[in-house]
Amino acid sequence: MAYAYDENNIFAKILRGEIPNKTVLETEHSLAFHDIRPQAPVHVLVIPKGPYVTYDHFALEAEADEIVDFNRTVGEVCKMMDVQPGMGGGGYRMISNAGEAGVQEVPHLHIHILGGRWMGRMVP
Ligand code: C5P
Repeated sequence: MAYAYDENNIFAKILRGEIPNKTVLETEHSLAFHDIRPQAPVHVLVIPKGPYVTYDHFALEAEADEIVDFNRTVGEVCKMMDVQPGMGGGGYRMISNAGEAGVQEVPHLHIHILGGRWMGRMVP
């Protein structure tokens, strides 16, 4: 079974420039921008430019250069937002919601980077 990507999802529209965003960093294969409904003082979303629905989709089907670029972008954003623990920042939480059980709202892979406050313990 193949992954089905919806070209009309809101992040696809952001990537096509049809909807504005507050960009933090843009690279060849990735875009990082501020979440419009921030849940913490730092709340940045990192998305690949390619048509991937979830992290597993990306991890299994993306090219190696896309995967490296995406992961480096996550690292660069942590640096830019000053949340790197042990590097002067107070730490962060990284989340990627996938599918129905994961309560994913936008069907284009995105990683949430949240920080700038105590995030609380994760409860299963
Ligand atoms: O639940 P999910 O991980 O899919 O969350 C989607 C996120 O995208 C939400 O945090 C929402 O605030 C954000 N969003 C955004 N800009 C939009 C639409 C949604 O930052 N135009």
